[in-house]
Amino acid sequence: MTEQKAEVRPAGSDFIRDIVRGDLQAKRYPTVVTRFPPEPNGYLHIGHAKSIGLNFGIAQEFGGRCHLRFDDTNPLKEEQEYIDAIERDVHWLGFDWGAHLYHASDYFEQLFEWAEHLIRAGKAYVDDQSADEIRATRGTLTEPGTNSPWRDRPMQENLDLFRRMRAGEFPNGARVLRAKIDMGAGNINLRDPVLYRILHASHPRTGTAWCIYPSYDFAHGQSDAIERITHSICTLEFEDHRPLYDWLLDNLPVPSRPRQYEFARLDLTYTILSKRILTELVRGRHVEGWDDPRMPTLAGLRRRGVPPEALREFVKRIGVAKANSVVDLGVFEFSVREILNKTAMRRMAVLRPLKVVIENYPQAQFEELEALNHPDDPAAGKRRVRFGRELYVERDDFMEHPPKKFYRLAPGREVRLRYAYFITCRDVVKNDNGEVIELRCTYDPATRGGNAPDGRKVQATLHWVSADALTAEIRLYNALFAVAEPNASDFVADLNPASLETLFDARLEPALAGAEIGVPIQFERQGYFCRDPSSAGGKLIFNRTVGLRDSWAKESRRSA
Ligand code: ATP
Ligand code: MG
Repeated sequence: MTEQKAEVRPAGSDFIRDIVRGDLQAKRYPTVVTRFPPEPNGYLHIGHAKSIGLNFGIAQEFGGRCHLRFDDTNPLKEEQEYIDAIERDVHWLGFDWGAHLYHASDYFEQLFEWAEHLIRAGKAYVDDQSADEIRATRGTLTEPGTNSPWRDRPMQENLDLFRRMRAGEFPNGARVLRAKIDMGAGNINLRDPVLYRILHASHPRTGTAWCIYPSYDFAHGQSDAIERITHSICTLEFEDHRPLYDWLLDNLPVPSRPRQYEFARLDLTYTILSKRILTELVRGRHVEGWDDPRMPTLAGLRRRGVPPEALREFVKRIGVAKANSVVDLGVFEFSVREILNKTAMRRMAVLRPLKVVIENYPQAQFEELEALNHPDDPAAGKRRVRFGRELYVERDDFMEHPPKKFYRLAPGREVRLRYAYFITCRDVVKNDNGEVIELRCTYDPATRGGNAPDGRKVQATLHWVSADALTAEIRLYNALFAVAEPNASDFVADLNPASLETLFDARLEPALAGAEIGVPIQFERQGYFCRDPSSAGGKLIFNRTVGLRDSWAKESRRSA
């Protein structure tokens, strides 16, 4: 792993960056040091991208550094698979921690010593009450808690019991170490919070070396202090923990004094951003896995074709605020479209094919026509597309009895086939059920390339492929949830039954045979698509990254 690049980017502006800027100007710190502290109990999601963009972004903009620190204090829920996925996803997003990869578990010995320090100072005690008893005596928002009967245990006895907890003499749940602060504190986090619990469990990094594990609160601030983090940036739900964060730092001989700042977490419509629920979606097989393209995980978004630049742009666009709010999924899709419109090559693909026979085009003859790879970027070059007597057009682009504003193909109607010719529909062929299965058309040879020498106009330009095109499977993804704000306590009921629609008989122009996995392409008039990793061998499977238009805005206009 290399050191982080020293390149400094222009600094954005929001209340956290303003604090950092002020601190650096006042020379409170020589340099800014931030961290991104995921718990390896699941895959990262788009909410984490906001936190990553903020922490790594600040480090880049102000010439500091950002650490990646695994908050691995609960071995029951944490796995190596998640550790690996998190590292992969942070790199994919475009950020690098350089040599600064840390784990809360790196500090277990130091944290244990600091726990003993609190015990010796009379500020922590071993409590023999069960988890239920502790919960029952914590009080409520309006009533104070009650002191544990073990609260005034002599210091030596606390020290002895705590060491025996570490030595493995007691079963899970038999005892905990608690801070001795104030059972009457208005802030419940200060009512003698648990610092250590007994857990006979193997840890992905420390194995069975430990059978007591620090709580999140006992690990977090001290890890920040050890790493000399200057600004410890987290989401608003930790605001009520800040007094405890400060109390621990005030009462321990820590090497530095970080400060915690809170910002609003990302919440997106039609989406749930909670690792617990995402885990349940995976375990309950409601999705194919953590990288199912419908998941809001970075792995899912990557498989779907979302470029990392779009995620970085999106988190910049939504900004950083102090009050929680819900961001419209359309804002995210806009960011994706904006990047892909610039970068994606154009190709033609017919998702739901309808056969067209050009009656006046010679049998067994083909020709190659030139098509632009990108309309705004001549450097992207051209390719050849094959035209012949038999073609496919999109089923939706034909109507036998068109209503007023339908300008595409209909009996007697002339339209342009992109990069090719004008064609006119002369007749329709139906099957026994009366369904249209073929259009009989004629073409005008004088319109080659798409323009009529006599200047006559057509109202529509359609995409098309030659009948000998490639066959592909296309997966059209819609929102995973059917309602804008899914109910976290009964999320299964809110799942969108139409979140995946699979088309098995799409036809693609031959240039798509070599489409690279993970490189999105615009299928003209349809949207952005990306070849699925499962189709690396022969079969062509494409995922829809995003459609061309904002379907969400349409929805809301309709319901408004
Ligand atoms: P979840 O609620 O999904 O389980 P978490 O907070 O438990 O997330 P962590 O692994 O502890 O997940 O998160 C690492 C960092 O990412 C934390 O600093 C947390 O504040 C931040 N984070 C988590 N979810 C979001 C979100 N939706 N928006 C912004 N930041 C987030
Ligand atoms: Mg957490």
